[in-house]
Amino acid sequence: MCKNDGGPLLVRYDLRRVRDGISRDALGSRPSTLWRYRELLPHEDGDAVVSLGEPNTPLVETPALGRALGLARLRVKDEGLLPTGTFKARGAAVGVTRARELGVTALALPTAGNAGAAWAAYGARAGLRVVVVMPATTPDVIVRETAAYGAEVYLVPGSIADAGAVVRAACAKYGWYDASTLREPYRIEGKKTMGFELAEQMGWRLPDVIVYPTGGGVGLIGMWKAFDELRAIGWLRAKLPRFVAVQSTGCAPIVKAFIDGRPESEAWPDPHTFAAGIRVPKALGDFIVLRALRESQGIAVAVTEEEIAGRMRVAGETEGMLVCPEGAAGLAGAATLRRDGWIRDDDEVVVFNTGTGLKYAESLQGERPRTLGIGELPLERELNNETRERRGR
Ligand SMILES: *Cc1c(COP(=O)(O)O)cnc(C)c1O
Repeated sequence: MCKNDGGPLLVRYDLRRVRDGISRDALGSRPSTLWRYRELLPHEDGDAVVSLGEPNTPLVETPALGRALGLARLRVKDEGLLPTGTFKARGAAVGVTRARELGVTALALPTAGNAGAAWAAYGARAGLRVVVVMPATTPDVIVRETAAYGAEVYLVPGSIADAGAVVRAACAKYGWYDASTLREPYRIEGKKTMGFELAEQMGWRLPDVIVYPTGGGVGLIGMWKAFDELRAIGWLRAKLPRFVAVQSTGCAPIVKAFIDGRPESEAWPDPHTFAAGIRVPKALGDFIVLRALRESQGIAVAVTEEEIAGRMRVAGETEGMLVCPEGAAGLAGAATLRRDGWIRDDDEVVVFNTGTGLKYAESLQGERPRTLGIGELPLERELNNETRERRGR
């Protein structure tokens, strides 16, 4: 955080040196982890990285899901396969690596849930003390997961903003490292690798539209920064995508600021959504998100809880993908924008599924399956018409 105005700091690289030092083809021989982009990541010594083997995540063709949503050219970048089940592993891998290099022994962070789990896991790997403060309404699986990595976990009434106030005061009092979103500049460096991966997977070009479920907005800012760096070193010449930030109608500060034409958001009163990762009433980097949306000719859109639940189900039924509610919000946002005509029929669309739906099993809908009687067989029946249509058969 900047000592003068409290604003976020961003890491800058000597991009000329990167450009002269490595070619994009040389990446091909490197392992498929986020560290393959190490010249554009903040760490001093390649052997000292804290890693749980974070893979490059698949960019999945989803034709049947696309048909169900009216999107002819839809792909999903599935971040659910990372350690701890969300893209927060990217930020934690790089953030914890850098914290350890800086000599940190104890760190604290507020979280809507998944960042706490990721930092707890990487902190355990690095041998650091980790203190996590999260809303009492965080999904139980995530609370228990975080504790299982040995972190000290505290719950607070309210939202991540209330958790943040506790962490700030505790860090001031005890001298802990404050790992809150954008209060240290390294987490975003990890998250930007989503952008590097996407560009590389697409053969060093980008889709027309990137849809991102937005809470703190760090992933979106990170990708924006990633594309900027790739252009500066000459690896990317293609036009930039239009960014879409999707939020829930129960917590939509960025959408409201976007519609009102304002440069930053106002704290959302009483935020609620079961998509816990995007329940952020006021993001520290909101002004950067809004700038990225506007400069990219993008847009911000809010979707309802019913739409989120519905898209979770459709993704599972059509493609066998158990997306998280945040990812489902992204799908719902894309469907809305297609219906409105903002996304055109021939637009290539990538939606980020930011985590696995397994962590949200509590909120999965549907009746509990019936237990068969002894000797009783399942019913013999065909797929019903609706399912057949969704599956494109
Ligand atoms: C944190 C989180 C988000 C929001 O990410 P930001 O980059 O902070 O906007 C979305 N989805 C999931 C699953 C998350 O954990």
